[in-house]
Amino acid sequence: MRAFDYLRAQTEGEALAAAGQDGAAFIAGGTDLMPLWKAGVAAPGLLIDIGRLPLAEVTARDGGLVFGATARLADIADHPEVRRRHPAIAQAIEASASGQVRNMATLGGALLQRTRCVYFRSGITPCEKLEPGSGCAAVAGENRLHAIFGGGPSCVATHASDLAVALVALDAQVRLRSLAGERVLPLTALYLPAGESPARETVLVPGEMIVAVEVPDAGGRSLYLKIRDRASFEFAVVSVAVALEVADGRVQSVRLAAGGVGTMPWRLRASEAALTGAEAGEAVFRAAAGLAADGAQPLAHNGFKIELLKRTVLRALVQAGDQT
Ligand SMILES: Cc1cc2nc3c(=O)[nH]c(=O)nc-3n(C[C@H](O)[C@H](O)[C@H](O)COP(=O)(O)OP(=O)(O)OC[C@H]3O[C@@H](n4cnc5c(N)ncnc54)[C@H](O)[C@@H]3O)c2cc1C
Repeated sequence: MRAFDYLRAQTEGEALAAAGQDGAAFIAGGTDLMPLWKAGVAAPGLLIDIGRLPLAEVTARDGGLVFGATARLADIADHPEVRRRHPAIAQAIEASASGQVRNMATLGGALLQRTRCVYFRSGITPCEKLEPGSGCAAVAGENRLHAIFGGGPSCVATHASDLAVALVALDAQVRLRSLAGERVLPLTALYLPAGESPARETVLVPGEMIVAVEVPDAGGRSLYLKIRDRASFEFAVVSVAVALEVADGRVQSVRLAAGGVGTMPWRLRASEAALTGAEAGEAVFRAAAGLAADGAQPLAHNGFKIELLKRTVLRALVQAGDQT
């Protein structure tokens, strides 16, 4: 094992000053970074522990919710205002990992966790994320759990975070800070599709830290539905987050995002467009769900995700419609 330095940051300024160094990495709950380190996939030269920074608050205010970057997933899911205003957030967290992991894992870490692609995590097969130019073992290999959106010949690894999918459907914004200052982006804009440079998964620049996520209030009801190979402690094969507002029998607004299918959380814009302003009901929901896989590029072993995605969208819409 390579030697490394450890800094328990006492202030945000101290963390940001250290983060610009080559080989530096933040650690929050450590539930993703540590397994990757043990597997030889990550090897930071400087570990910056941000767990003591005052960024763990979950705040409900007029107009929206604010989650500090080191808020524990369990604390977010348990917050009464999260459950009341945006049930999809609590449902996505409760469908993630295990109680023990959720007690340690943080918001920032959940958004930046790495893919569960077995080729990436093995650290021994060709992977463009680990070694640009080496190729992608999944493209011609076993790829049942891989992406049908946003991939290409260099990478088809799915984005893993359930919470990110719910937050993308809720139009969350992410607040980033570095020594150069602060910027706020729609969460969708944090992520990059695999494209030519799969090693670069987000727009974060070296030394930049997530400090908070803000979720605006919205009318209607939200819901997260996760389909997986076993009932608990398993990543999504397909998941769908929906935020649906119906008034006078018509869809006033709808936002849909899917997990388990894209190299980043995937907004389902064609389905949203078909629903907006339409009469709310199963026929319209079914037609919109039929558009959910528009643009999908299935691989040898994951064509089934197309039908599964459509059915999951339909189920999510019907369930959300029943609750509005
Ligand atoms: C057994 C197991 C099962 C799991 N199942 C699921 C599941 O079903 N669904 C799901 O969504 N997830 C699942 N996870 C993943 C889990 O959600 C993540 O491991 C966790 O959210 C990571 O949070 P953390 O605070 O521990 O991150 P860490 O491991 O501390 O960090 C992860 C990454 O984020 C970076 N980072 C952390 N915080 C910040 C910040 N504020 N700013 C910038 N960079 C930061 C770190 O440098 C590191 O690269 C599972 C994990 C395990 C171990």
